Amino acid sequence: MNTTAKLISLHGGHSGQYCSHARDPLEAIIQRYIELGFSKVGITEHVPPTNDNFLYPDETKLNLTAADLYKRFEDYFKNINCLKKKYASKIKIFIGMETETYTGYVDHIKNLTSKFQPDYIVGSVHHVDDNSFDYSRGEYERIALLYGSYEAMYEKYFDLQYEMIKELKPFVVGHFDHIKIYDEDYEKRLLLPQIVQKIKRNLILIKTLDLVMDFNLRALNKGAKEPYITTSILKRAAEMGIIVVPGDDSHGVNEAGDHIDKAIEILKALGFDTQWPEPRLLT
Ligand SMILES: [Zn+2]
Ligand SMILES: [Zn+2]
Repeated sequence: MNTTAKLISLHGGHSGQYCSHARDPLEAIIQRYIELGFSKVGITEHVPPTNDNFLYPDETKLNLTAADLYKRFEDYFKNINCLKKKYASKIKIFIGMETETYTGYVDHIKNLTSKFQPDYIVGSVHHVDDNSFDYSRGEYERIALLYGSYEAMYEKYFDLQYEMIKELKPFVVGHFDHIKIYDEDYEKRLLLPQIVQKIKRNLILIKTLDLVMDFNLRALNKGAKEPYITTSILKRAAEMGIIVVPGDDSHGVNEAGDHIDKAIEILKALGFDTQWPEPRLLT
């Protein structure tokens, strides 16, 4: 049995340099991972939007455009490729990017992948039907009303996630149950038969494609009682032999490496393999 699981994060390293809702230079974040004893880390900056309609409020406030963010993303790849070489003797950096799922995302992500050649992709859903549900509780509730119920919104989310996984084959599936973000009754909701059926379907696809799931720890920084993925789903993943890898989803030096030890403990206790696979491109 493996008792020496190595510190790793395969989702995070968002930096103030390339993300308007993060802080600190990317290099400082990488230095922090080295200081903490990480031998491997994945840096997964958010992709730029397809057009100005999908700018986040923090970006609009700064008068940024989709074109500006595309340029910033080019700079990210230039810099991260340099940093990967610069620190190669100290840490193995995997260059990644985190997806979106709004209209046009499949071609958009495929184009970005072929242009920038990341080491891997984190497949995340932050929008349903082009509505961003995770930015604020107000928006989350507005979208649920649009569908008529939280349940209907959850179903939409898991259907879109299924499509995204099938289309993009992301090596890491990001915060699998992100749709629970502002829902106090999520534990109950995630056990409803019509939702469980979609969760199982998505897990089978993940297993079939040999993808890994992100054990996303950022929720703990925000006061949530457990990470994404919630325990009921985590147990299903364990039974199915799916690999789950910690992700700090860090957005600044002070969040780098947060809760990774605890995550490894939880995964081990549930019987997960903690020999982490190396990320790769599957498309
Ligand atoms: Zn972010
Ligand atoms: Zn995300």
